[in-house]
Amino acid sequence: MPTAAFTTLGCKVNQYETQKILESFEAQGFEIVPFESPADVYVINTCSVTQSAESKSRQTVRRAARQNPNAVVVMTGCYAQFTLRRGETLAEAHLTVPNPDKLRTVEYLLEHFPHFKAQLAQAARQSETPLRRRTRAVLKIQDGCNVYCSFCSIPYTRPVMRSTPYQEVLAEARALVQDGYREIVLTGVLIGDYGPQTGSGGPDLVQLCAMLSAIDGLERIRISSIEPTLITDALIDLIAQNPKMCPQLHIPLQSGDTGVLRAMNRPYDQAFYLDLIRQLRARIPDCGVSTDIMVGFPSEDEAAFENTCAVVEQAEFCRAHLFRYSPRPDTPAESMPDQVPDAVKAERMQRLQQVCKAAARRYATRFIGRTERVLVETRSKLSGLMTGTSDHYLQVEFAASPTLIGRLVQVRITDLAADGVLGELVEWSV
Ligand code: SF4
Repeated sequence: MPTAAFTTLGCKVNQYETQKILESFEAQGFEIVPFESPADVYVINTCSVTQSAESKSRQTVRRAARQNPNAVVVMTGCYAQFTLRRGETLAEAHLTVPNPDKLRTVEYLLEHFPHFKAQLAQAARQSETPLRRRTRAVLKIQDGCNVYCSFCSIPYTRPVMRSTPYQEVLAEARALVQDGYREIVLTGVLIGDYGPQTGSGGPDLVQLCAMLSAIDGLERIRISSIEPTLITDALIDLIAQNPKMCPQLHIPLQSGDTGVLRAMNRPYDQAFYLDLIRQLRARIPDCGVSTDIMVGFPSEDEAAFENTCAVVEQAEFCRAHLFRYSPRPDTPAESMPDQVPDAVKAERMQRLQQVCKAAARRYATRFIGRTERVLVETRSKLSGLMTGTSDHYLQVEFAASPTLIGRLVQVRITDLAADGVLGELVEWSV
């Protein structure tokens, strides 16, 4: 049976799409193996959000080619699309699938490398290998963005706004629950835009979440990333009242400085963002808020950077993904004056990492002595303890049997860990 391995760079949308590509390979009869293993086919779903992401995409393609020089290396995703647009080639990628066609990657492969068809036909009688081992499934419900942040190329690569019809979302969610998933993470490029005006067939995001929460066996629903201006009172009420909705939101900040936000073409200012956090925590006590922050955007001076640090202090993010700004081709920010030198970006990244770490530890401290519901996910290679994610998005480590992977358990939080918290297993149910 031919083998295929997958890896993803970038956002949750890419993760979701890799999952779908993987399933299409499984359906054709490929055996799925870890990306670190020798495989007959490597599929790399690339990202181009920063120069660093592009560089990592190239490195990953080259790594795959080194791992098995006889393998077919397939590249798709945003970086792959950029290479096609620019007429570039990456020698180690034997096949580049256009981003809009990525869910048809297996068809492209079989068309260009027909020897796999013969191998699959031979293996056709072998039993399928169900490989959905993840405990949390990502479900994409929306695509496209029309916000045009001045640093971002996504609106140019995904300009069409589209919501997945709610019947399809519900059917996919039921199938995931049947496969054993307890938690579904809803994702999209601009998920707050989900609604009838772009093809949902009726419900908006809040109504869709309410429909999903009625599915028996689905125990947790999480919203992956939502723009601050698209968080409505109705959504806050739903999270506050519906126990299946995780009390956590990922709300990109990007900058805590109003002037920089304006230059970024982000549709809010510092006061709006902080007020939103206050409202959230007033309605949902201890609501976990994670975020994305971009460091070194053009015009970010020391005072502006300090404003970002101040927002981190006040918001007490439970997690923060930090990015160093790098110009993306054909975006307005590429030609802005006042570009920040790399050395200054590097120094600010280090400082901000410390500020974020301290804020996350302050947030996590609130939970010491409390009991949290945790989805058991894997065993930590470092500590040997089991790890999982709590409703509030804390990474929790605790002693337990690996047979609990995929289950929701109650864990009493006892202390802070290097990257999360430690706890003791209290109880679990089947
Ligand atoms: S909201 Fe801004 S950063 Fe997010 S995808 Fe749209 S343009 Fe890009």
